[in-house]
Amino acid sequence: MNDDLTKRLRYCTTLPSLPAIAIKIIDLANDPDTDIGILCDHIVYDPALSAKILKIANSPLYKTRRSSTNVRQAVSLLGTHTVIVIALSFSLAESFIKNPAPNPAIDNNLFWRRAITSALASRALGEKLKITNLDDLFLIGLLQDIGILIYSTIMPETYGSVFASTNDHDILIETERKTYETGHDELGYILLKQWHIPDNIASACLTSHNQPESNAQAHTLHACAATARYLADYFLTPNNSEKLDKLSKKARSWLNLDEKTLADVIDIMAEGLDSVEDLFDITIIQSFELSGLLAEAKELLTVHSVSKVKELEEKSYRDGLTGAHNRTYFDETLNQEFSLSRQHHLPLTIVMIDLDHFKRINDTYGHLTGDGMLVAVTRTILGLIRQDDTLCRYGGEEFALILPNTTLAASRYITCRLKEAIAAISYQSEDSSAIRITTSIGVASYMENMPQFQQPNDLIKAADLALYTAKKNGRNKIVEWNEL
Ligand code: GH3
Ligand code: MG
Ligand code: MG
Repeated sequence: MNDDLTKRLRYCTTLPSLPAIAIKIIDLANDPDTDIGILCDHIVYDPALSAKILKIANSPLYKTRRSSTNVRQAVSLLGTHTVIVIALSFSLAESFIKNPAPNPAIDNNLFWRRAITSALASRALGEKLKITNLDDLFLIGLLQDIGILIYSTIMPETYGSVFASTNDHDILIETERKTYETGHDELGYILLKQWHIPDNIASACLTSHNQPESNAQAHTLHACAATARYLADYFLTPNNSEKLDKLSKKARSWLNLDEKTLADVIDIMAEGLDSVEDLFDITIIQSFELSGLLAEAKELLTVHSVSKVKELEEKSYRDGLTGAHNRTYFDETLNQEFSLSRQHHLPLTIVMIDLDHFKRINDTYGHLTGDGMLVAVTRTILGLIRQDDTLCRYGGEEFALILPNTTLAASRYITCRLKEAIAAISYQSEDSSAIRITTSIGVASYMENMPQFQQPNDLIKAADLALYTAKKNGRNKIVEWNEL
């Protein structure tokens, strides 16, 4: 961190100081000898905090069977660790996050809503994944962006414009790093350490801004906190497909969560929403908005997962360079079309297209130019075939067409045009010379009652043989299997 930032952080007078109760609780959190008795003694001195602890112990967030009527019961039901973390969440939220120094560029209410929402999101993810330290997750979610408030307090002149320059959190951190050499993740961590916040919490706030390391001991905890940032963003700005897309990608890669599970997590957030709004005295979203959001999230996530599956399927059937269908797709489609033709007594034509002397193009202009030529040829072919026809990249510079319900005679129309159109391509190489290419084409058609074609492979062999003849006879030719 640069010196200016360090000094400002140390000497800033507008940075609110921690209330006495928060300091005490942090002490208790760092003291391994803290027991229920000591903890209760401190809590009961703070009536506001006592009331909150009682309220939370009886809220649906903690599904304890017995209800507590006093702090001592609540603390013994929840356990010291939980109570310490809850007490910290409250005292820090009330003193710092809720009432930061005003900065016109930052909507404090929105910041506060977002902090609580990521706390809720982080906890909900942990609950779905059956992690035990849900309170830690809540606190981490609450504090992970505290660096933004510190920036806005210690850099009041410049931070407003940095913050307002983007509504994308990841870009914000990058901009901060460029401007001040330090992101709000690191700045927040420094402050939390100054406050002596237990290290597992402080470092999780820091790591939640980076890609969680999969081999780290606290991986799931970090990954929940990291994913929570995207979940909170979506929760507060629903109907935003970009945010949803980011969220589902992160949830999948960091926590291995699919869309359906993500929808469950959003439900868990909704269940805890009332309690959290009540406890923190905040309205995150109006109840009429909530039901809309839940329905929408479910629908969007379903659509999202369906389109994802489709996209993946599509990908596995396409050739990466040209976008034409691949060999797998060709084999499956040919099998289908062949049996359909036999069943319904329809003709079927296969066309094999092999570029002539393609090796020379690579040798003369380089492989990249060769690649570009293959893409140009693909486009040309796609522009000429019908919707029912299938174009595949059969091998390196060899394409195959499946023309359903097409007789040999009917196929001549298309093969002639293909041959001419490919020969007419004038591909611009890097040194601006126009490259031209010709093709050899082999055709075979299946018609009713042709004993030569018992299976799809026979048809391919026939077309291949025709193609071979075209090459042998000088290239730049169309040869039909019947003529052989
Ligand atoms: P012929 O007229 O006999 O078909 O000659 P040819 O040079 O086209 O045929 P050959 O089979 O000898 O060589 C095919 C060439 O296609 C060699 C290979 O480097 C090139 N090739 C195959 N796949 C790709 C590719 O994805 N990109 C590029 N740039 N070249 C490829
Ligand atoms: Mg060739
Ligand atoms: Mg070849």
